[in-house]
Amino acid sequence: MRVSPFNIQQQAESTERKIVVALERIATAFRVLLWQESKETALSPIQIQILIFLLFHSSEKCKVSYLAQEFNMTKATISDSVKILLEKKLIKKTDDLADTRSYTIELTHAGKKTAEKSSNFAFAIEKPLTSLTNEQKETMLSGLLTLIHQLNKAGIITIQRMCFTCAHYQNSKAGHYCTLLQSRLVANELRVDCPEHTLA
Ligand code: SF4
Repeated sequence: MRVSPFNIQQQAESTERKIVVALERIATAFRVLLWQESKETALSPIQIQILIFLLFHSSEKCKVSYLAQEFNMTKATISDSVKILLEKKLIKKTDDLADTRSYTIELTHAGKKTAEKSSNFAFAIEKPLTSLTNEQKETMLSGLLTLIHQLNKAGIITIQRMCFTCAHYQNSKAGHYCTLLQSRLVANELRVDCPEHTLA
């Protein structure tokens, strides 16, 4: 039988397996919180995630094809959600003048209000993190960024806008450096989702 992080005995013998199971619990917490938000807004979890994404990202990313990659879903699934959000008048479409088959999605006033309210759905996870020391938070952030980078390289997580995958990022003995900001980045300044990210 193969070693499994969910085998309680084998899990107890390995820090990596305990981390895998801990991350699974946290993923469950995200799902639960998103479903709670879903009940309150009468929107599906992916519809809520689309609204939150539109609220915080530039218009060139607010297209069906980009959203499909962002959420690792098919364009057809994203298009279905977009259709419902249009019917509910939470978003509107603007035609792309350069490509007649493409359009940009924007929040309406009502959509902005819903997105702003829903964007706090993960606060229950953020709150306990404030009780950690700065050192603990930096170690956790650094470990998670490395994990996300590896999952991205393995093709499991698709789009990334983090420092480690950015053309402006340099890592040397002196530490992390951003050539765009022309500044050294200390551990807690590394970005998970940077608007200036340029794929390396
Ligand atoms: S541009 Fe943003 S993502 Fe890229 S290295 Fe600088 S801070 Fe990091």
